[in-house]
Amino acid sequence: MPTLTSPKNTSEILKKYQFRVQKKYGQNFLIDANILEKIVEAAEIGPDAFVLEIGPGIGTMTQMLCEAAAEVVAVEIDEKLMPILGETLGDYDNVTVLNCDILKQDICALAEQYGGGRRMKVVANLPYYITTPIIMDIFESHAPVDGITVMVQREVAERMQAGPGTKDYGALSLAVQYYSIPEIVEEVPPSCFIPQPQVSSAVVRLKKRSEPPVDVADEELLFKLIRASFNQRRKTLANGIFNSGIIDFSKEEIAHFIENLGLRADVRGEKLTLSQFAELANALTAVK
Ligand code: SAM
Repeated sequence: MPTLTSPKNTSEILKKYQFRVQKKYGQNFLIDANILEKIVEAAEIGPDAFVLEIGPGIGTMTQMLCEAAAEVVAVEIDEKLMPILGETLGDYDNVTVLNCDILKQDICALAEQYGGGRRMKVVANLPYYITTPIIMDIFESHAPVDGITVMVQREVAERMQAGPGTKDYGALSLAVQYYSIPEIVEEVPPSCFIPQPQVSSAVVRLKKRSEPPVDVADEELLFKLIRASFNQRRKTLANGIFNSGIIDFSKEEIAHFIENLGLRADVRGEKLTLSQFAELANALTAVK
């Protein structure tokens, strides 16, 4: 089977199976060998690795993952890609393709069933319409994941890395940084895909932390506070939390808790660090 990493080979296989690209599934197939090699390298896939690939498409990156890793599980939602994957991955006996929606999969069960006790590395050229829910599902599952190396929209990669007080800073930055250390590995222009997306992309590596960087008694409350404060970004933190109804305190009482952290009562959520959100969550938990 020739490698798929060229516009010619990709177009030929799509034509052979009369495959029509489905926009609703975010299908933009990678055709640049250098970028694919960089993703596999950044993910640090060694001969013992167990890899979960989300959205293998026609199998371009999957082939490289099968060459580099011990075991690959590829989860693809589009059943029309199954016969193509049957051909492009036919030479490999270390890959399992599952035809299902990754958002409906139990990631821990997948890791247990196919990992043989190994920790999992997640690698993907993600469908951009569901980047955030996929990443959050993986983190929140607490599955044995070492790292996530994924192609995402460039501006989403920038949001993951952003710090307090910047325009890109938000709930995604805080959640990603709570669970991992994010690093943009490579920026990728639209010309590296068929069909070309309308936005620039970036490969980002999220190195999973062994412990969160802050001590928080109630993780769920922490993330509710974060979401409440960024859902109403232009409002003060006290208003955002009060309007969300997640806790049973008056606006004045919430403002008081905020002042007790050494912050102004009218501060906006976008100014708070992860540690300050954690302190606020702990102060509220203590009196709940
Ligand atoms: N990995 C291929 C590549 O790099 O050429 C394809 C990447 S394409 C951006 C995203 C892939 O994810 C498509 O194959 C699409 O059908 C698949 N996909 C979209 N939504 C999905 C979901 N919810 N679960 C699993 N796969 C999904």
